[in-house]
Amino acid sequence: MSDDTIRPVPQPGILDIAPYLPGKSGAPGSNAVKLSANESPLGASPRAMEAFRAAADHLDIYPEGSSRLLRTALGEVHGIDPELIVCGNGSDDLLHLLAQCYLGEGDEAVMSRYGFSVYPIITRATGAAIVMVDEDDYTADVDALLAAVRPKTKVVWLANPNNPTGTYLPDAEIRRLHAGLRPDILLVIDNAYAEYVTAEDFTVATALVREAQNVVMVRTFSKMGLAAARIGWMFGPAPIVDAIHRIRGPFNVNLPAQLAGAAAARDVEFTARLKAHNAQWRDWITAELNQSNHFRVVPSQANFVMVMFPDADHAALAFQTLLERGLIVREIGASYGIPDGLRISIGSEQAMRGVVGILKALVKIA
Ligand SMILES: *Cc1c(COP(=O)(O)O)cnc(C)c1O
Repeated sequence: MSDDTIRPVPQPGILDIAPYLPGKSGAPGSNAVKLSANESPLGASPRAMEAFRAAADHLDIYPEGSSRLLRTALGEVHGIDPELIVCGNGSDDLLHLLAQCYLGEGDEAVMSRYGFSVYPIITRATGAAIVMVDEDDYTADVDALLAAVRPKTKVVWLANPNNPTGTYLPDAEIRRLHAGLRPDILLVIDNAYAEYVTAEDFTVATALVREAQNVVMVRTFSKMGLAAARIGWMFGPAPIVDAIHRIRGPFNVNLPAQLAGAAAARDVEFTARLKAHNAQWRDWITAELNQSNHFRVVPSQANFVMVMFPDADHAALAFQTLLERGLIVREIGASYGIPDGLRISIGSEQAMRGVVGILKALVKIA
C-alpha cells in the first residue's frame, strides 16, 4: 500500500518562505573574528556565567514553567509588573508566538522594507501575507507604514533600533505611528538593541505598552552577552500576555537560562560597560570610514554599523578581503536586499582597527 506521490504537505505559505540566513561563522578552531551576528565583544556577565554553572546541579528537575525568577528580576530592573512579562527561548520564540496568536490566513502584517528578516518568515508561516513598506534612507517611514494599513492588517512589526540598518525612530515618531493605527491592530515594538541606544529622543516602548491595549515590547539578552543561552522576554497588556501563555511551550525557558538571565539583568554594571565600549567604537568606526567618500556609514544606534559601498561589487570585494584577513562580517544582499552594504558588528578595539585598516587600504586612502 505505498504510493510514493502521497506525502505530508506543509500548510499553505510554508514552502514560500526563504529560510533565515544566519551570519557566517568561523570554521571550528579557526581564530577568525566573528563580526556577523551582533554578539557581545566582552563575553557574558561574569555573574550570569556563575549562575549558569550553578544550574548544573539541578538538571534533573523541570524548570518553573513561567520563568518566575527571571520575570521578577526583569520587573525590578525595568520597573514593570512581572505578571505582564512573558519569557521565551530567545525573542524569536516570542515573535513566533505573537504571529501565531494574532495572524492567520487572509490577514496582513505590515513591516518596513529593510526590517528584521524574521518578520516575513513568521508572518507567512501563519498563512498571512507580509506587506513591505518603503523606507526613507534606510529608516522606517511612519507615513508610509500608516498608508499601507488596510482592513486586513492585524499586526505591524517594527524593530527599534532596526537590524540590519541600525537606524531608529524617536519616541515622537513611535507615538505618531501608534496613534494612526486602529485599536485592533497589534503594534509589536522589537527593542532588541535598546541597551545600546545613546540617542536622547529614543525611549523603550515600556510607557506606550502601559498606556495602550495594542502594543507589546519584545526584548532579548542575545545582544548583551547571552546569545547561546536563548533568552527573550516581552512586556504587554494582560489580555495579550494571557493569550501568549496559552500557546507557549510549558517549559520554554530552560533553568540555566532563567538563572543566567536573572543574574545578567541585575548586573547593571556589566550592561553599562558593554554600552560604553559599544558607543566608543561605534562612533570611532563611523567617523573613520566616513572620512572617505568611498564609504557611507548609516548612523547606527545599535551594536553594529551598516556600511554602504559604491555598488555591490565593491561590497563583495570588501567582504572577501575582510574574510581572508580573518574578519567575518555580514553580507546583506541575499537576506535583506542590500547588496551594496555590509553589516559589521562592533567588536574589540583590535577588530575595529583591523576592519578600518583593511577597508581603507582597499581604497588606497590609508
Ligand atoms: C537578534 C534579534 C532578535 C532575536 O534575538 P534572539 O533573542 O536571539 O532570538 C530579535 N529582533 C531583532 C531585531 C534582532 O536583531
